[in-house]
Amino acid sequence: MPLYEYSCPECHERCELLVRSASEKPACPKCGSVRLEKLLSVPAAHVGGSNLPMYDGPPGGGCGLPQCGQGGCQGMM
Ligand SMILES: [Zn+2]
Repeated sequence: MPLYEYSCPECHERCELLVRSASEKPACPKCGSVRLEKLLSVPAAHVGGSNLPMYDGPPGGGCGLPQCGQGGCQGMM
C-alpha cells in the first residue's frame, strides 16, 4: 500500500497516511478535514505553498515610507 505524506490546509498538520485506492479520501487525523494536500515525496523546497506569508506591499497603496502614511504622497508624485 502506498504511503503518502499529506499537509492539512486547515490546521497545518503534516501526516503520513496509507491510501489504498485513488478514490479514497484521506482525512486529517487532527481536525478531520478531507481537503488534504498530497505532498510530493521529493524533498523539494517549500515553494508554492499556501501557508507562506504574503506581502502585498504597504497598506493603502502608499510608497512604503513611514511619512507617507496611507498613500498620502501619491498626489505629490
Ligand atoms: Zn487538519
